[in-house]
Amino acid sequence: MPWLAEDDALGLSIMVMVAGEPVERWRCNYQVCQAACCRIERGLTLLDIKEIVKATRKAPQEFVTLSTVEGPSLPLVLKRRGGGCIFLEQDHGCALHNTGAKPLLCRMYPFLLSRIIPADEPMMVITPAADCPGYGTGPVLEKSFMNEIRRYGRLYVNELRRILRYRNQGVEPKEILRRELQT
Ligand code: SF4
Ligand code: SF4
Repeated sequence: MPWLAEDDALGLSIMVMVAGEPVERWRCNYQVCQAACCRIERGLTLLDIKEIVKATRKAPQEFVTLSTVEGPSLPLVLKRRGGGCIFLEQDHGCALHNTGAKPLLCRMYPFLLSRIIPADEPMMVITPAADCPGYGTGPVLEKSFMNEIRRYGRLYVNELRRILRYRNQGVEPKEILRRELQT
């Protein structure tokens, strides 16, 4: 079901399309799936990196690495440890959960970014996480929940464009990070 985006302070409109089975109720039962969503490569926007630095006082090199995927949308990703994200804790919780600095893509759970279709009004296609044990549990996903997803989507696409501008100028990811964190 597509949601028509409204203009926001970024001056950017996007559409968000949820592909796959509809999700009516959901709660993240990460202890049951052992945080399955946190075991895949997770792209970071420059905004995410700055927020994490501010919240944790960690240097970017402690948690950022380069993607191993050929030609990813976001070349900077979360470091991994023991088969999962570096912020994944022993009990499968997220060390960033109460910091307000979770990366944008993590805030979109239980939806995973499938693709962005570029256009003047881009479309973000998201897909419910496969075999999520949280479906059918927890609260009904109200319109406000989807509005939040859409807001994160707008921020994400805006950040993606920022990275692409650098890449089009031939600036390497490490240099992008250096320049951005100086400001
Ligand atoms: S969204 Fe679902 S699959 Fe992903 S970590 Fe939460 S419970 Fe697990
Ligand atoms: S930052 Fe937190 S929610 Fe995101 S992948 Fe890492 S552990 Fe999971």
